[in-house]
Amino acid sequence: MSQNTAKKPDLFRLDGRVALVTGASRGLGASMATALAEAGAKVALAARSDLKTTAAHIRAQGGDCEAFPTDLADRKAPAHLVEAVAKHFGQIDILVNNAGIIRRANFLEFSEQDWDDVMDVNLRSVFVLSREFAKRVAERKARGHIVNIASMLSFQGGIRVPAYTAAKSALAGLTKAMANELAPLGINVNAIAPGYMATDNTTALRADAARNRAILDRIPAGRWGEADDLKGAVVFLASEASAYVHGITLPVDGGWLAR
Ligand code: NAP
Repeated sequence: MSQNTAKKPDLFRLDGRVALVTGASRGLGASMATALAEAGAKVALAARSDLKTTAAHIRAQGGDCEAFPTDLADRKAPAHLVEAVAKHFGQIDILVNNAGIIRRANFLEFSEQDWDDVMDVNLRSVFVLSREFAKRVAERKARGHIVNIASMLSFQGGIRVPAYTAAKSALAGLTKAMANELAPLGINVNAIAPGYMATDNTTALRADAARNRAILDRIPAGRWGEADDLKGAVVFLASEASAYVHGITLPVDGGWLAR
Protein backbone atom coordinates (compact mmCIF):
# COMPACT_ATOMS: atom_id res chain seq x y z
CA MET A 1 0.00 0.00 0.00
CA SER A 2 1.36 3.43 -0.90
CA GLN A 3 1.78 6.09 1.80
CA ASN A 4 0.30 8.77 -0.50
CA THR A 5 -1.75 10.97 1.82
CA ALA A 6 -3.35 13.09 -0.97
CA LYS A 7 -7.12 13.19 -0.44
CA LYS A 8 -8.84 10.63 -2.66
CA PRO A 9 -12.20 11.50 -4.24
CA ASP A 10 -15.05 9.93 -2.28
CA LEU A 11 -16.52 7.34 -4.66
CA PHE A 12 -19.93 7.66 -3.02
CA ARG A 13 -20.26 11.49 -3.23
CA LEU A 14 -22.65 13.01 -5.77
CA ASP A 15 -21.72 16.69 -5.53
CA GLY A 16 -22.43 18.58 -8.76
CA ARG A 17 -24.77 15.83 -10.02
CA VAL A 18 -28.50 16.19 -10.76
CA ALA A 19 -30.80 13.28 -9.96
CA LEU A 20 -34.42 12.74 -11.02
CA VAL A 21 -36.39 10.45 -8.69
CA THR A 22 -39.88 9.42 -9.77
CA GLY A 23 -42.44 8.51 -7.12
CA ALA A 24 -40.68 10.74 -4.60
CA SER A 25 -43.81 11.84 -2.71
CA ARG A 26 -43.58 9.04 -0.13
CA GLY A 27 -42.31 5.53 0.58
CA LEU A 28 -39.13 4.23 -1.02
CA GLY A 29 -38.82 7.16 -3.45
CA ALA A 30 -38.84 9.77 -0.67
CA SER A 31 -36.06 7.93 1.19
CA MET A 32 -33.95 7.42 -1.93
CA ALA A 33 -34.33 11.09 -2.94
CA THR A 34 -33.19 12.07 0.56
CA ALA A 35 -30.19 9.72 0.33
CA LEU A 36 -29.08 11.20 -2.99
CA ALA A 37 -29.41 14.74 -1.59
CA GLU A 38 -27.42 13.71 1.50
CA ALA A 39 -24.68 12.48 -0.86
CA GLY A 40 -24.58 15.94 -2.46
CA ALA A 41 -26.85 15.66 -5.52
CA LYS A 42 -29.44 18.23 -6.52
CA VAL A 43 -32.69 16.28 -6.70
CA ALA A 44 -35.74 16.62 -8.95
CA LEU A 45 -38.78 15.10 -7.24
CA ALA A 46 -41.63 13.75 -9.40
CA ALA A 47 -45.05 12.33 -8.48
CA ARG A 48 -48.74 13.18 -8.86
CA SER A 49 -49.47 14.25 -5.30
CA ASP A 50 -47.92 16.71 -2.91
CA LEU A 51 -44.13 16.70 -2.91
CA LYS A 52 -43.87 19.33 -0.15
CA THR A 53 -43.10 16.85 2.65
CA THR A 54 -40.15 15.26 0.84
CA ALA A 55 -38.88 18.65 -0.35
CA ALA A 56 -39.12 20.17 3.16
CA HIS A 57 -37.24 17.20 4.64
CA ILE A 58 -34.42 17.51 2.10
CA ARG A 59 -34.17 21.29 2.46
CA ALA A 60 -34.17 21.08 6.27
CA GLN A 61 -30.96 19.06 5.95
CA GLY A 62 -29.42 21.71 3.66
CA GLY A 63 -30.16 19.75 0.47
CA ASP A 64 -31.17 21.21 -2.90
CA CYS A 65 -34.33 19.94 -4.61
CA GLU A 66 -37.21 20.98 -6.84
CA ALA A 67 -40.69 19.48 -7.24
CA PHE A 68 -42.03 18.43 -10.66
CA PRO A 69 -45.71 17.38 -10.32
CA THR A 70 -46.22 14.68 -12.95
CA ASP A 71 -48.67 11.90 -13.80
CA LEU A 72 -46.58 9.20 -15.47
CA ALA A 73 -49.74 7.42 -16.63
CA ASP A 74 -50.03 10.24 -19.18
CA ARG A 75 -48.11 8.98 -22.20
CA LYS A 76 -46.63 12.40 -22.97
CA ALA A 77 -45.45 12.99 -19.41
CA PRO A 78 -42.13 11.06 -19.29
CA ALA A 79 -40.49 12.99 -22.14
CA HIS A 80 -41.83 16.31 -20.81
CA LEU A 81 -40.50 15.52 -17.35
CA VAL A 82 -36.94 14.82 -18.51
CA GLU A 83 -37.00 18.01 -20.58
CA ALA A 84 -38.30 20.12 -17.67
CA VAL A 85 -35.68 18.79 -15.23
CA ALA A 86 -32.80 19.29 -17.69
CA LYS A 87 -34.03 22.82 -18.40
CA HIS A 88 -34.36 23.73 -14.72
CA PHE A 89 -31.00 22.36 -13.55
CA GLY A 90 -29.08 22.68 -16.84
CA GLN A 91 -28.18 18.97 -16.82
CA ILE A 92 -29.40 15.59 -15.61
CA ASP A 93 -27.00 12.82 -14.54
CA ILE A 94 -28.95 10.26 -12.51
CA LEU A 95 -32.39 8.75 -13.12
CA VAL A 96 -34.13 6.67 -10.45
CA ASN A 97 -37.17 4.96 -11.98
CA ASN A 98 -39.10 4.30 -8.78
CA ALA A 99 -42.75 5.31 -9.40
CA GLY A 100 -44.95 2.26 -9.42
CA ILE A 101 -48.46 0.98 -8.74
CA ILE A 102 -49.85 -2.43 -7.87
CA ARG A 103 -53.31 -3.87 -8.57
CA ARG A 104 -54.44 -7.04 -6.79
CA ALA A 105 -57.12 -9.43 -8.07
CA ASN A 106 -57.46 -13.14 -8.79
CA PHE A 107 -56.06 -13.95 -12.22
CA LEU A 108 -59.47 -15.10 -13.52
CA GLU A 109 -60.98 -11.69 -12.70
CA PHE A 110 -57.97 -9.51 -13.50
CA SER A 111 -59.15 -6.69 -15.79
CA GLU A 112 -57.48 -5.38 -18.95
CA GLN A 113 -57.77 -1.87 -17.52
CA ASP A 114 -55.69 -2.87 -14.47
CA TRP A 115 -53.19 -4.60 -16.77
CA ASP A 116 -52.79 -1.47 -18.93
CA ASP A 117 -52.61 0.91 -15.95
CA VAL A 118 -49.81 -1.08 -14.30
CA MET A 119 -47.88 -1.52 -17.54
CA ASP A 120 -48.08 2.20 -18.40
CA VAL A 121 -46.68 3.41 -15.08
CA ASN A 122 -44.34 0.54 -14.13
CA LEU A 123 -42.84 -0.26 -17.54
CA ARG A 124 -43.73 2.07 -20.42
CA SER A 125 -42.85 5.24 -18.51
CA VAL A 126 -39.51 3.70 -17.48
CA PHE A 127 -38.67 2.96 -21.10
CA VAL A 128 -39.43 6.51 -22.28
CA LEU A 129 -37.83 8.25 -19.28
CA SER A 130 -34.68 6.16 -19.73
CA ARG A 131 -34.47 6.76 -23.48
CA GLU A 132 -34.92 10.52 -23.14
CA PHE A 133 -32.47 10.66 -20.21
CA ALA A 134 -29.83 8.61 -22.08
CA LYS A 135 -30.10 10.78 -25.19
CA ARG A 136 -29.28 13.87 -23.13
CA VAL A 137 -26.37 12.27 -21.28
CA ALA A 138 -24.96 10.95 -24.56
CA GLU A 139 -25.26 14.38 -26.22
CA ARG A 140 -23.18 15.89 -23.38
CA LYS A 141 -20.72 12.99 -23.53
CA ALA A 142 -21.17 12.88 -19.75
CA ARG A 143 -21.42 10.03 -17.23
CA GLY A 144 -24.90 8.81 -16.39
CA HIS A 145 -26.54 6.38 -13.97
CA ILE A 146 -29.98 4.79 -14.28
CA VAL A 147 -31.37 2.90 -11.27
CA ASN A 148 -34.60 0.99 -11.84
CA ILE A 149 -36.67 -0.16 -8.90
CA ALA A 150 -37.55 -3.79 -9.53
CA SER A 151 -39.06 -6.25 -7.03
CA MET A 152 -38.91 -9.78 -5.65
CA LEU A 153 -41.47 -10.32 -8.42
CA SER A 154 -38.69 -9.72 -10.93
CA PHE A 155 -37.58 -13.21 -9.79
CA GLN A 156 -40.77 -14.85 -8.51
CA GLY A 157 -44.40 -15.14 -9.64
CA GLY A 158 -46.32 -13.64 -6.75
CA ILE A 159 -50.02 -14.15 -6.07
CA ARG A 160 -52.93 -12.07 -7.46
CA VAL A 161 -50.58 -9.52 -9.09
CA PRO A 162 -50.05 -10.74 -12.67
CA ALA A 163 -49.54 -7.29 -14.26
CA TYR A 164 -47.15 -6.20 -11.53
CA THR A 165 -45.11 -9.41 -11.86
CA ALA A 166 -45.04 -9.09 -15.65
CA ALA A 167 -43.90 -5.45 -15.45
CA LYS A 168 -41.24 -6.04 -12.78
CA SER A 169 -39.89 -9.15 -14.54
CA ALA A 170 -39.72 -7.17 -17.78
CA LEU A 171 -37.95 -4.37 -15.91
CA ALA A 172 -35.09 -6.73 -14.97
CA GLY A 173 -34.78 -7.66 -18.66
CA LEU A 174 -34.99 -4.04 -19.77
CA THR A 175 -32.23 -3.19 -17.27
CA LYS A 176 -29.93 -5.71 -18.99
CA ALA A 177 -30.98 -4.65 -22.49
CA MET A 178 -30.31 -0.99 -21.72
CA ALA A 179 -27.01 -1.78 -19.97
CA ASN A 180 -25.75 -3.54 -23.10
CA GLU A 181 -26.38 -0.50 -25.30
CA LEU A 182 -25.70 2.30 -22.83
CA ALA A 183 -22.52 1.06 -21.08
CA PRO A 184 -20.42 1.99 -24.13
CA LEU A 185 -21.89 5.52 -23.87
CA GLY A 186 -20.73 5.90 -20.25
CA ILE A 187 -24.12 5.18 -18.68
CA ASN A 188 -24.50 2.57 -15.95
CA VAL A 189 -27.91 0.89 -15.89
CA ASN A 190 -28.79 -1.27 -12.90
CA ALA A 191 -31.78 -2.12 -10.73
CA ILE A 192 -32.57 -2.59 -7.06
CA ALA A 193 -35.03 -5.32 -6.08
CA PRO A 194 -36.47 -4.34 -2.70
CA GLY A 195 -37.82 -7.16 -0.57
CA TYR A 196 -41.00 -6.78 1.44
CA MET A 197 -40.93 -3.15 2.58
CA ALA A 198 -43.36 -1.43 4.95
CA THR A 199 -44.91 1.23 2.67
CA ASP A 200 -48.37 2.04 1.25
CA ASN A 201 -47.62 -0.49 -1.51
CA THR A 202 -47.79 -3.37 1.00
CA THR A 203 -50.52 -2.13 3.37
CA ALA A 204 -52.91 -4.87 2.20
CA LEU A 205 -50.34 -7.61 2.82
CA ARG A 206 -49.45 -6.37 6.30
CA ALA A 207 -53.16 -6.07 7.19
CA ASP A 208 -53.71 -9.76 6.32
CA ALA A 209 -52.51 -11.58 9.47
CA ALA A 210 -51.83 -14.89 7.69
CA ARG A 211 -49.88 -13.31 4.80
CA ASN A 212 -48.01 -11.03 7.20
CA ARG A 213 -46.91 -14.04 9.31
CA ALA A 214 -45.96 -16.12 6.25
CA ILE A 215 -43.86 -13.28 4.83
CA LEU A 216 -42.11 -12.53 8.12
CA ASP A 217 -41.35 -16.23 8.69
CA ARG A 218 -39.42 -16.29 5.40
CA ILE A 219 -37.28 -13.18 5.96
CA PRO A 220 -33.96 -14.17 7.58
CA ALA A 221 -33.51 -10.60 8.89
CA GLY A 222 -36.77 -11.16 10.82
CA ARG A 223 -38.49 -7.89 9.95
CA TRP A 224 -40.15 -5.98 7.11
CA GLY A 225 -37.76 -3.65 5.28
CA GLU A 226 -37.90 0.08 5.96
CA ALA A 227 -37.65 2.69 3.18
CA ASP A 228 -34.30 3.84 4.55
CA ASP A 229 -32.88 0.33 3.97
CA LEU A 230 -32.50 1.32 0.28
CA LYS A 231 -30.37 4.41 0.93
CA GLY A 232 -26.98 2.70 0.65
CA ALA A 233 -27.87 0.70 -2.45
CA VAL A 234 -29.21 3.70 -4.39
CA VAL A 235 -26.17 5.88 -3.59
CA PHE A 236 -23.88 2.99 -4.61
CA LEU A 237 -25.63 2.46 -7.96
CA ALA A 238 -25.91 6.23 -8.65
CA SER A 239 -22.23 6.94 -7.94
CA GLU A 240 -18.77 6.15 -9.27
CA ALA A 241 -18.53 3.46 -6.58
CA SER A 242 -20.41 1.23 -9.06
CA ALA A 243 -18.53 2.38 -12.20
CA TYR A 244 -17.91 -1.20 -13.43
CA VAL A 245 -21.34 -2.56 -12.43
CA HIS A 246 -23.73 -2.93 -15.38
CA GLY A 247 -27.08 -4.68 -15.82
CA ILE A 248 -27.54 -6.17 -12.35
CA THR A 249 -30.69 -6.38 -10.26
CA LEU A 250 -29.47 -6.05 -6.68
CA PRO A 251 -31.77 -7.59 -4.06
CA VAL A 252 -32.13 -5.59 -0.84
CA ASP A 253 -34.44 -8.07 0.81
CA GLY A 254 -33.33 -9.07 4.31
CA GLY A 255 -32.27 -12.40 2.79
CA TRP A 256 -35.69 -13.34 1.29
CA LEU A 257 -34.19 -14.77 -1.92
CA ALA A 258 -31.55 -16.71 0.00
CA ARG A 259 -34.27 -18.95 1.50
P1 NAP B 1 -45.82 3.77 -2.56
O1 NAP B 1 -45.59 4.15 -1.14
O2 NAP B 1 -47.18 3.39 -3.01
O3 NAP B 1 -45.25 4.97 -3.49
C1 NAP B 1 -45.39 4.91 -4.88
C2 NAP B 1 -44.83 6.19 -5.47
O4 NAP B 1 -45.07 6.17 -6.89
C3 NAP B 1 -45.52 7.40 -4.91
O5 NAP B 1 -44.59 8.45 -4.76
C4 NAP B 1 -46.52 7.73 -6.00
O6 NAP B 1 -46.79 9.10 -5.97
C5 NAP B 1 -45.76 7.34 -7.26
N1 NAP B 1 -46.64 7.13 -8.37
C6 NAP B 1 -47.60 6.19 -8.50
N2 NAP B 1 -48.27 6.36 -9.66
C7 NAP B 1 -47.72 7.44 -10.27
C8 NAP B 1 -47.99 8.12 -11.49
N3 NAP B 1 -48.99 7.76 -12.31
N4 NAP B 1 -47.24 9.19 -11.80
C9 NAP B 1 -46.24 9.61 -10.97
N5 NAP B 1 -45.95 9.00 -9.81
C10 NAP B 1 -46.68 7.92 -9.47
O7 NAP B 1 -44.91 2.55 -2.98
P2 NAP B 1 -43.41 2.16 -2.60
O8 NAP B 1 -43.49 0.93 -1.79
O9 NAP B 1 -42.65 3.31 -2.10
O10 NAP B 1 -42.93 1.71 -4.04
C11 NAP B 1 -41.96 2.39 -4.79
C12 NAP B 1 -41.43 1.46 -5.89
O11 NAP B 1 -40.85 0.32 -5.27
C13 NAP B 1 -42.53 0.93 -6.80
O12 NAP B 1 -42.03 0.79 -8.12
C14 NAP B 1 -42.83 -0.45 -6.22
O13 NAP B 1 -43.34 -1.32 -7.18
C15 NAP B 1 -41.43 -0.86 -5.78
N6 NAP B 1 -41.37 -1.91 -4.77
C16 NAP B 1 -41.98 -1.76 -3.56
C17 NAP B 1 -41.88 -2.79 -2.62
C18 NAP B 1 -42.49 -2.72 -1.25
O14 NAP B 1 -42.46 -3.74 -0.55
N7 NAP B 1 -43.03 -1.61 -0.82
C19 NAP B 1 -41.16 -3.94 -2.94
C20 NAP B 1 -40.57 -4.05 -4.18
C21 NAP B 1 -40.68 -3.02 -5.08
P3 NAP B 1 -48.26 9.73 -6.20
O15 NAP B 1 -49.27 8.79 -5.70
O16 NAP B 1 -48.14 11.01 -5.44
O17 NAP B 1 -48.32 9.96 -7.66
